Amino acid sequence: MAEKITFTPFSYTGWGALKHLVEEVRKFNVQRILLVTDPFLEGIGIVKRVTEPLEQAGFTVDIYKDVVPEPPLSVGEKLVAYARQSQSELVIGLGGGSALDLAKLAGIITVHEGNVEDYLNLTGSKKITKKGLPTILIPTTSGTGSEVTNISVLSLETTKDVVTHDYLVADVAIVDPELTISVPAKVTAATGVDALTHAVEAYVSKNASVVSDALALQAIRLISQSIRTAVQDGTNVQARTDMSYGSYLAGIAFFNAGVAGVHALAYPLGGQFHIAHGDSNAVLLPYVMGYIRSSCEKRMKDIYNAMGFSSNQLSQQQASYKCVDELKRLVEDVGIPSTLQGFNITADALESLTTDAVKQTRILARSPMPLLQQDIFTIYEAALNGV
Ligand code: NAD
Repeated sequence: MAEKITFTPFSYTGWGALKHLVEEVRKFNVQRILLVTDPFLEGIGIVKRVTEPLEQAGFTVDIYKDVVPEPPLSVGEKLVAYARQSQSELVIGLGGGSALDLAKLAGIITVHEGNVEDYLNLTGSKKITKKGLPTILIPTTSGTGSEVTNISVLSLETTKDVVTHDYLVADVAIVDPELTISVPAKVTAATGVDALTHAVEAYVSKNASVVSDALALQAIRLISQSIRTAVQDGTNVQARTDMSYGSYLAGIAFFNAGVAGVHALAYPLGGQFHIAHGDSNAVLLPYVMGYIRSSCEKRMKDIYNAMGFSSNQLSQQQASYKCVDELKRLVEDVGIPSTLQGFNITADALESLTTDAVKQTRILARSPMPLLQQDIFTIYEAALNGV
C-alpha cells in the first residue's frame, strides 16, 4: 500500500545550527519579522541570540513574548490579532512547544478570516485553505517535535484541542541542542519523556510505516541512552545532542504515524489539572502500554531492544512485559511521579477524565487495541495508585 510521508522542507540540526538563521531568512525576501517567544527566554539571553544577528543584517523584528506554557485559546487569539496588526511577513517561533505552536498559528490564521477558535479540530467550523506566512521554528526544549509537525495544541477549559493542517508545517526547522543547555532538570525530564512517548506511540500506531518505524526506533535509542544524563547534568553536550536529535526524529515519526492512547488520556490531565504536557504523557505511558501490550507484543519487544536491552533469552511476550517495566523505571529515574496520586489526583476525578478522553476519537483510532470508555476508565484507575 502506498504511504504518504511529509517532512519539513529544510532542517538544520546539530550543535551551532542557529548560525544558519540569517541566511535562511534572506531566502524569503522579507523585511519585517514576527518573533514569537516566552518571557523567560528573553530573561536568560536566548532571545538576543536570535534578534541581534537579524537586526545586524537589517531586518526589523517585532517580538511577541507573552507566550505561556500550555497556551490557552485566549493567548492564541491575542497573538493572531497582534500578528495581523504588525503586518509581519515572516514568523519565527523560538522556545518550547508552547511558543512554536503559537508561531505556527500566527503564521496560518493571520492569512485566513476569523479567529483561531473557528479552526479548532473538534469544534471549529472553518477550514484552512491556503499556506500562511513563511515560518521558521527554533526549539529550545527537546520534547514536542513541534518544529516538524503540522499541529498547534491549545488548552481549553477541561481538555486540549488542535489546529492541524499540512500548511502548518514550518518552512525551516533549526534544531540546535546548544539552546537546550539551560533547560532545568524537571523540564528536561518531562519534555524528554514526551519525546519518548511520541516515538513509542508512533511505533505501535496502526498508521506506522517503514519510514516512521526507522525514525521512531532511532529516537527511542537516542532518548533512552541519554535522558538520565541530560536530567542529571544539563551541561552534558552529548546527552543534550542526543535528546535534541531524538525529539526531532520522534516528531517526524509521530507527525506521520500519529500518537494514540497515551495522548488521548493525557490531554484531559492537562486540561483539568494543568499538568504539563510531558508530565501527563509520562505518568500514563507505562499504564497505557501495559494495557495494550498484548495487541503489539512484537513491537514492544523491538522497543525494549531499542532501549538497549537484549531479548535473546526471552519470548516475545516476556520481552513485551519487560518493556513496560523499563518504561516505568525510566519515568521514575528522571523524577516524574509514576502515579496520578503523585499529582494530587483523586478517584473522584476519573469519571470526568474518562468523559473527556473518549472524545479524542481521531487519536484513539490509531491505537493497536481499541480503547473504549471502560478501557480508558480502567487505565486511569490503574494509574491512580500504580497497580
Ligand atoms: P513549554 O514550551 O511550555 O516550556 C516549558 C517551560 O520551559 C517554560 O517555562 C519555558 O520558559 C521553559 N524553557 C523553554 N526553553 C528553555 C530553555 N532553553 N532554558 C530554560 N527554560 C526553557 O514546554 P514544551 O513541553 O516544550 O511544550 C509544551 C506544549 O507543546 C504544550 O502546549 C503541548 O500540548 C504542546 N505540544 C505540541 C506538539 C506539536 O506537535 N505541535 C506536540 C507535543 C506537545
